[in-house]
Amino acid sequence: MPSLISHAAVAVAAGAAFAPRDVPSHFWGLVVVCSILPDADVLGFSFGIPYHHFFGHRGFFHSPFFSLLLSLLVVGIFFRSTDMFSSRWFFYLIFFFLLSASHGILDAFTNGGLGIALLSPFDLTRYFFPWTPIEVSPIGVKAFFSKWGLAVMKSELQWIWLPCVVMAVFSVLIRRFVLRQ
Ligand SMILES: [Zn+2]
Repeated sequence: MPSLISHAAVAVAAGAAFAPRDVPSHFWGLVVVCSILPDADVLGFSFGIPYHHFFGHRGFFHSPFFSLLLSLLVVGIFFRSTDMFSSRWFFYLIFFFLLSASHGILDAFTNGGLGIALLSPFDLTRYFFPWTPIEVSPIGVKAFFSKWGLAVMKSELQWIWLPCVVMAVFSVLIRRFVLRQ
């Protein structure tokens, strides 16, 4: 995985770029949670679920299919007051889906561990993209404070944070000065 904080950075940058100005404040908490939730599957290691298992790390919980279920759940619970099938309802549904799906997609650009079950539950193959520029992040906080951790930070700054900051700044400028939002 890229580190959790980088997944969250992508999510917040996407929110800054695309979210309507009047979203409720809990929207932002959910943005962060949905972007990092797939990595809760590492808890499976403590319960003896192996890496390559259906529910193992980077398995079902990293698939876009799970993202869709998560998004439906988030919208159903936290945005109950939004009219179903209204344009705002679809925005939330698609946004939280893409946000959560971005997690597995980013992971598929990393250079280590097992691949990502991007087509689970229909096909359990673990996939990487042909180009994997992001240094894979160690699992666990302790391992992060090492030479490996530094290499991860450097690669994430270059491949995740820089594009995110550029996207966020440009979109805020475009929204403010062109779209006048
Ligand atoms: Zn992950």
